[in-house]
Amino acid sequence: MCQSKHFIKIYWIGLKLIYNKSMESIEKRFKCPYCFQRISFILDTTVDGTQTYIEDCEVCCQPIEVTYDSQNGKIEFFDNQKVN
Ligand SMILES: [Zn+2]
Repeated sequence: MCQSKHFIKIYWIGLKLIYNKSMESIEKRFKCPYCFQRISFILDTTVDGTQTYIEDCEVCCQPIEVTYDSQNGKIEFFDNQKVN
């Protein structure tokens, strides 16, 4: 199982989605580079530009480095890779 703080984070994002009606974030679906299961991350699109962060896979809990470029509320570029 993932660490409890991870669930708290997901719960918080869920609340944010409800109250902001998805205007400030986008759900991105992709395959985990470790277990190849289909998973989804919520990307914050409130800030334009390239952002990189690490989040655990919701299936295998391995850390995934995500890079995306947000412009005017849209995801122009998305990439994910294993964390060495
Ligand atoms: Zn995984």
